[in-house]
Amino acid sequence: MNYSSTRNSSLKVSSAEAILTGLAPDGGLFVPASFPKLDFEALAGKPYSEIAFNILRLFLTDYDEGFLRNAVTEVYGERFDGKAGHLEALSDDLYALELWHGPTCAFKDYALQLMPLLLVEARRMLGEQDETIILVATSGDTGSAALAGYSNVNSVKIAVFYPNNGTSLLQQLQMTTQTGKNVAVYGVTGNFDDAQRGVKRAFTDPALAEKLAARGAKLSSANSINWGRLVPQIVYYATSYLALCQKGRIKYGQPLDFCVPTGNFGDIMAGWYAKQMGLPVGKLICASNKNNVLAEFLETGQYNANREFYKTSSPSMDILVSSNLERLLCHASGSTEKVTGWMAELARDGSYQVDATVLEAIQATFEAGWCSEEAVFDEIRQAKQSYGYLSDPHTAVALRVAAEKGKGADGRPVVVLSTASPYKFSCQVLEALKQPVPDDEFDALRALEAFSGVKAPESLSKLVDKPVRFTEVIDPASISEISLKM
Ligand SMILES: *Cc1c(COP(=O)(O)O)cnc(C)c1O
Repeated sequence: MNYSSTRNSSLKVSSAEAILTGLAPDGGLFVPASFPKLDFEALAGKPYSEIAFNILRLFLTDYDEGFLRNAVTEVYGERFDGKAGHLEALSDDLYALELWHGPTCAFKDYALQLMPLLLVEARRMLGEQDETIILVATSGDTGSAALAGYSNVNSVKIAVFYPNNGTSLLQQLQMTTQTGKNVAVYGVTGNFDDAQRGVKRAFTDPALAEKLAARGAKLSSANSINWGRLVPQIVYYATSYLALCQKGRIKYGQPLDFCVPTGNFGDIMAGWYAKQMGLPVGKLICASNKNNVLAEFLETGQYNANREFYKTSSPSMDILVSSNLERLLCHASGSTEKVTGWMAELARDGSYQVDATVLEAIQATFEAGWCSEEAVFDEIRQAKQSYGYLSDPHTAVALRVAAEKGKGADGRPVVVLSTASPYKFSCQVLEALKQPVPDDEFDALRALEAFSGVKAPESLSKLVDKPVRFTEVIDPASISEISLKM
């Protein structure tokens, strides 16, 4: 399987090269040249890692199959508490796909626990001698998941940039208490988009590449612009589909809808790839928070980032420039020229409009909705009352949008991707449940434990004892300079 760029169809690289470099040299994203088909039905009842192997091997064709098998077995067992792809029934029609049983309690662990293995193997396969420096812009969860994955990996260094005051305190502590000898963490003035722009600028800065080359280093990415982030996320669409077949809730072949709390459009894009591989995915419902640029785009075909940026209770979705949409635009339009044009307009004017045929192709699979802050808090309370379900604010956005889109009403079940542990956002969850909210975040975590009767994940509660190691706040313009000092 070869990969080309969303901005240049004649580029051809292997999956190892796509994973090692992260972003195409023209600033585009790597996309697969074709969609491999898989007989998902034959995998019913198989363990998570077996299904993961069967999907990965079709996209990562240059990797040794024995290596892939070992990698998925190592990653998707104990590290996820034996709960990889855990599906929780809230009602007969509504299911929560709980993706937060990994080391940092958010879905990003699925890709970022595996990625370091894929990257180190790619270095070996390609005979890479240079050091790999990974730059990560994070709205909260990517940073901690990437640090957990890449900490103390040989020949790799990682620098994480998060919006200062733009994450929850627990998210911040998950990053700033990291002990790995190859890691650095910085707060950035501005919001996630500023951090992401700073990182993208570093990636496409030829002077920086030259200076790094002189000291034997190259940049790479752990953001969802990296193809290695997307492939592992295809797996849980398949396992949840098959689990509902096993339960007898659906018959194989019946379309199943998924509602996905969305920011950078990576998670939902993995669902789209699952569908192209032959999984009977029905609608993919994109749930946005108050930063509703994607929901608007999917309804109108106009992408308009010229709008106020809101800090919300679901910070990992506080994004105005959603990178992975570029992959969908490329596949839906079939034209790298068009994509290049739209991305140039986005950079220049902050907006672009796709043509009607492209919008129609997108709407054949995608629906969208968005959720105000009031509705998020209301939904957290409703979910507890109606289903006894404790939901974090990101998941609540999707629960509300799923309810509003009327899914389930016609007897067609919907799977909501539950992307973070509620204990990562204890203060907001307590507030939503109309409980007293302690000032201290760890008191809040314990209060939520007492209220729900369920223990918080240990990786979160033990953060209280860890010393803060990183405190520096920088201007996003200095990201290039900092990567030279890594
Ligand atoms: C990253 C994240 C999202 C958004 O996922 P995308 O792939 O960026 O669309 C949603 N919820 C949580 C908790 C996240 O960490």
